[in-house]
Amino acid sequence: MRMEGRLFLDVRKRMFRNDEILLTDEVGYVAMADFKVEKTSTPTPADQRRVLMEDPKFGRVFTDHMAVIRYTEEKGWHDAKVMPRQPLQIDPASTVLHYGQEIFEGLKAYRAKDGAISLFRPEANAARFAASARRLSMAELPEELFLGAIEALLQVDREWVPSGQDKSLYLRPFMISNEVFLGVKAASEYLFIVLASPVGGYFGGSGGIPVWVSETYTRAAPGGTGEAKCGGNYASSLLPQREAAENGCSQVLFLDARERRFIDEMGGMNVMFVRKDGSVVTPPLGGTILRGITRDSILKLGRHMGLTMVEEPLDINDIFAAAASGEITEAFACGTAAVISPIGEFRRESGTVAFGDGTTEGPVTKRLRQALCGLQRGTEEDPFKWVYPVQA
Ligand SMILES: *Cc1c(COP(=O)(O)O)cnc(C)c1O
Repeated sequence: MRMEGRLFLDVRKRMFRNDEILLTDEVGYVAMADFKVEKTSTPTPADQRRVLMEDPKFGRVFTDHMAVIRYTEEKGWHDAKVMPRQPLQIDPASTVLHYGQEIFEGLKAYRAKDGAISLFRPEANAARFAASARRLSMAELPEELFLGAIEALLQVDREWVPSGQDKSLYLRPFMISNEVFLGVKAASEYLFIVLASPVGGYFGGSGGIPVWVSETYTRAAPGGTGEAKCGGNYASSLLPQREAAENGCSQVLFLDARERRFIDEMGGMNVMFVRKDGSVVTPPLGGTILRGITRDSILKLGRHMGLTMVEEPLDINDIFAAAASGEITEAFACGTAAVISPIGEFRRESGTVAFGDGTTEGPVTKRLRQALCGLQRGTEEDPFKWVYPVQA
């Protein structure tokens, strides 16, 4: 049986400063988003879903539905719906297949002990998505449609939000250009989709990850697309990622494109270090580093916890020296998928340096991780109003 209906959602809406992903004071007015709902006639049986969700790993298991919204220059955003997840039909001349006009986001839905479902700062994802669209010269999706699509999908696929310590439902909003035309110009048609995938931890195991410092490749240059969350940035990181794997590392650290000296970030996550005195340092945003929402949350949360949080340029040679002398005692990667993952060591052509003993999570990393996860999972009080309850 194919069930059809409509969802009228109250979408909480807040204000942003221009181009800033950070929230200003809460404004708290509500916008309506209207989604047509078309449910699958072949939902995954409950027992099979439970098996799939037992150990989902990362990004291979998907829910039964997806949210879709179309854009054309004539109609603007239209045809918002939740529909069965299925392959797309795309003309081989579709612009995205040739010039890569594509952007995406990544965020998680969490299930609290009492069964309630919540998101974490999804307005910041909406704002960053709009900023990425501007950089890639794509149509901007209004914030209430971004949030509405996620909420509508969660209503239909709510059973797929796992409970349990390290589990969550990873949400992948993305947008492709979709005009049938081989000329190079910004497309006049776009497709916005949200997929959902139950996930466990991103890195198997709990020891520190070994990280390769790439001295051959860079990720982003001033004026480039480093600050946009676009697929192209990831395509160019795959070769350095392979170089990392050949050197026994699971992630790459990129240096600045000008001097190959200052630390930017990793392929898909930001990076932070802990000094002997307990202060936490990370490179400042400057156009080449992706504005991680996890990064921003840790900086604010750390300050709230009384830690000294510093943003300053970090010379890779100084970091190697400071780690060797014990001046820097911990390093960690941070991002939605990775949460906070301890880094065990840095490797480069000229040598290796370990952080702490290279295997155990340092005390400051652990404190920050527990505080952040407690907030996200609703076991800690939320002074920042970051938790976004979902009506599902
Ligand atoms: C998504 C991403 C991050 C992390 O951002 P979060 O908002 O914390 O998930 C960091 N670096 C890059 C390159 C990214 O694409």
